Amino acid sequence: MSSYIGRFAPSPTGALHAGSLVAALASWLDARAHAGKWLVRIEDVDTPRCIPGAAAEILRQLAACGLTPDEAPVYQSQRSSLYQAALDQLIAAQAAYPCACSRKDIEAAISAQGALKTRHGELIYPGTCRHGLAGREARAWRLQTDFFKPNMLIAGVESAQSAHLSIANDASVIRWQDRRLNTQQQHLAAEVGDFILKRADGLWAYQLAVVVDDAAQGITHIVRGEDLADNTARQIYLQHALGYSTPLYLHTPLVLAADGNKLSKQNGAQALSLNSPQQALAALQSAATLLQLPQVQHTSIAQALHSWVQAWLVKYRLHE
Ligand code: GLU
Repeated sequence: MSSYIGRFAPSPTGALHAGSLVAALASWLDARAHAGKWLVRIEDVDTPRCIPGAAAEILRQLAACGLTPDEAPVYQSQRSSLYQAALDQLIAAQAAYPCACSRKDIEAAISAQGALKTRHGELIYPGTCRHGLAGREARAWRLQTDFFKPNMLIAGVESAQSAHLSIANDASVIRWQDRRLNTQQQHLAAEVGDFILKRADGLWAYQLAVVVDDAAQGITHIVRGEDLADNTARQIYLQHALGYSTPLYLHTPLVLAADGNKLSKQNGAQALSLNSPQQALAALQSAATLLQLPQVQHTSIAQALHSWVQAWLVKYRLHE
């Protein structure tokens, strides 16, 4: 399937660790298994969280593992004009609106309605600025999550690849098929609320940047960690709002830390040291084992990758 374009999209908040290598390997295997292209995109929009030198280190680590992108990597920090054009399009369609609320304002508005509603520690925006700023100064931009009426959505779905995706009559329930997790759904307005596209500090939100870039780069298949599955409904909704087609998704298992939580830089994920082919092969083998791919022995990185591509096809071959 030569129309396949996949990607690995690390945030340069540190070097690759055991968890991020799983996403890198899985996305590379899926692209290779389907004779596709594999791109790397450095997601450095959240500049305060980026660490100088981390992007170069990630690219060096990938190369040490034999995972080299088919095109020069792109950097989100250089793509602001694309994100601005997308935001302008949403504003023109009246799907995006400016928001003047501080966190305190949001807490006050929510507690006036009853209990504080949160999701993963984030407040569900009560929609205060949907109908105007009431003379206050705009801080951020949000997307209206029940903007589309069902008939508009049907048109959007038909122009996209509709087989694996449906949007229920209730305008903001997004239902989609993950290649590993099967049917997923989320009621955006109730579970997430109108979400941020451009932050009060002027930085682009992950959701907007990732959707714009996946479309601009022609990404057809997204393979990434399961911790990101929860963002998928928002991203599908944004794709519709911008008239983009929806890629197929596969979310990979997570590496767990000793405390049972997802391994991350916060709970001690160590940067992988990949200074010899033996170290790189051992790190790849751990990632492959998590993906339930076979053990390889006494072999080169190239040979190991080749045998995992074959094993990957047995599990995740696309039928189109
Ligand atoms: N940059 C995001 C991250 O690190 C991944 C984005 C994606 O794959 O959609 O975690």
